[in-house]
Amino acid sequence: MRVRHKPWARGKLEKHSDIVIPSPRYYNGEWGEVFHREAPLCVEIGTGKGKFIIGMAKKRPDANFIGIELNESIIVSALEKCLEAGATNVRLINEDARGLTDFFAEDEVDDLYLNFCDPWPKKRHEKRRLTYSAFLAQYEYVLKSHGVIHFKTDNQGLFEYSLESFSQYGFLLRNISLDLQHARDAKDNVMTEYEEKFTDKGQRIYRCEAVCSD
Ligand code: SAM
Repeated sequence: MRVRHKPWARGKLEKHSDIVIPSPRYYNGEWGEVFHREAPLCVEIGTGKGKFIIGMAKKRPDANFIGIELNESIIVSALEKCLEAGATNVRLINEDARGLTDFFAEDEVDDLYLNFCDPWPKKRHEKRRLTYSAFLAQYEYVLKSHGVIHFKTDNQGLFEYSLESFSQYGFLLRNISLDLQHARDAKDNVMTEYEEKFTDKGQRIYRCEAVCSD
């Protein structure tokens, strides 16, 4: 994604440290404290500009949502959406998701969302894909037993790779769709910014859920 650098973003993120949590490691295992309640914990990796997480937070007021996004010029848009919506069940982390197991304790997370992550098509970049086995090991650690990874992409190559990667790692696959906009449950789908763009162009969206089997 080509993004305009926003030199003011850092200051705005710091000003809203009640939403953009500056020391996420401190709350490892204690996220209920941040939300002032115990509730199912849903985490989105690569939140982008926040359309999905805000949409989900409205749809599921019973759950706590955390979005992780490493680019401050992008996450600041998610913060703005959050403020505009007055969403009290959303928090943001402006860090690399490689630190996932520093942020969350074992069995702390109920649902993980990976939406339109960068495909890194070259074989030599495989380790950067968010569905590479080293990432799956982290997901398995933080997810509860029977916790779910919800995965969407427009990229057929990444989708096929990810199905294999989930399956080889021991996740159970379900709700696979090769054309989400025409799936039976399409009306329940909350779209992301990228998804909206691809859908408008008539591109197909792939979706699957990978369930933690232990
Ligand atoms: N999920 C959004 C959507 O569907 O509209 C954004 C998709 S965009 C292609 C991928 C996003 O993931 C970018 O904003 C990028 O900065 C973020 N990202 C990539 N790798 C990441 C990582 N390791 N940790 C956190 N964010 C990451």
